[in-house]
Amino acid sequence: MMPSTEFTFIVASIVIGFLAWRWRAAHARAQHWQAVAVSGEQRAEDTDLLRDHLESQIAALEVAQIDGVLILNAKGVILRLNAAAHEIFGPGAIPGQSLMTVTRSAELDDLIASARLRQSEVDTQINLAGLPYRARVRVADTGIAVVVLREMSELHRLGRARRDFIANISHELRTPLTSIRLVVESLLASADPASEHIHNSLEKVNTEVSALEQMSQELLDLAQIESGQAVARLVPIQVKTLMANVAGRLRLQADRKQQDLTVQVDDDLEALADHDQIARALGNLVHNAIKFTPDGGRIQLTANRTNADIVIAVTDNGAGIAPTDQPRVFERFFRGDRARLRQSGTGLGLAIAKHVVEAHGGRIWVESQGIPGRGTTFFFSLLPGN
Ligand code: ADP
Repeated sequence: MMPSTEFTFIVASIVIGFLAWRWRAAHARAQHWQAVAVSGEQRAEDTDLLRDHLESQIAALEVAQIDGVLILNAKGVILRLNAAAHEIFGPGAIPGQSLMTVTRSAELDDLIASARLRQSEVDTQINLAGLPYRARVRVADTGIAVVVLREMSELHRLGRARRDFIANISHELRTPLTSIRLVVESLLASADPASEHIHNSLEKVNTEVSALEQMSQELLDLAQIESGQAVARLVPIQVKTLMANVAGRLRLQADRKQQDLTVQVDDDLEALADHDQIARALGNLVHNAIKFTPDGGRIQLTANRTNADIVIAVTDNGAGIAPTDQPRVFERFFRGDRARLRQSGTGLGLAIAKHVVEAHGGRIWVESQGIPGRGTTFFFSLLPGN
């Protein structure tokens, strides 16, 4: 998606272009009187130079612009349009024509009308001649409207290529990683206990392999989520089994840091969930708790029934999350300063957890005082299964 700064830049450029166009008309009139009234020829030359310079810049901007950009007056008449807009609407689109006459697109017309009515930017997807476009419209106080059109199909194609690439890479990484893990584990089992150095080195390799496995899994999950392949199949599941499975999978990692990992949940608690997907989301929370809690720390998994929901919580007594970071931790690729400096990770774990939980009709949130040692609790809710 085009960031708003880019949009602001385009609008600013177009407005400069428009002002320059107005200025040119005024300049042409002024020039006439200038010829009569002003005898200093040097001044006129300077003005011409400045005008040529401005015009060449505007022309370059208009040609280089990939988005179609149109400027309309309050009556919907085209004042100016760039080369990309010409390509979209064909040779009939020229200044002086009404946009509706040229495009015959009621959808675009409605969009502009709605931007005028709301007096704010409208940003949506529309179809023009059978192709999808992202359309953005801003209307100035003077009634002048700026319309920016971006073709979506190429973006879609690039997005798909990126997802496929990530999915393939992460899939291909799994087999060699599993082989390395097996070799390291068998070496660990057979290593001479007297050789502390070899043992420690193998443990380090094992930790790094776990981190790589986690990363490739997160990349794969993200690719599946983005491609819409990860459809949640909700059935009643035992929350205790879910939590025991996740804790069992990550216990080794906690043990390596001498952390106390506990599960506390009633036997009869059931939730409506896709076991594997929610196990992945919960796994990401527990994995983080282990990662961001020092050796010897405590990690607790609990679940409770509230009036309408099942609430699952993962509490640690680790580094905590600063209040300023808390609203951002669920964003894709967000990583705290500490994480960027010291820990491995992709910044995707929480974004994936959020997506999964929301696809289950639940919500996810975090509580932390942001004080090291006071730790963090991540909560998420699920619909009850019984
Ligand atoms: P990653 O762990 O790969 O960095 P996540 O999306 O899982 O990415 O987490 C985003 C950020 O949230 C982390 O980089 C870290 O700053 C913060 N965070 C997540 N869980 C915890 C936790 N239990 N304790 C402290 N900080 C955490």
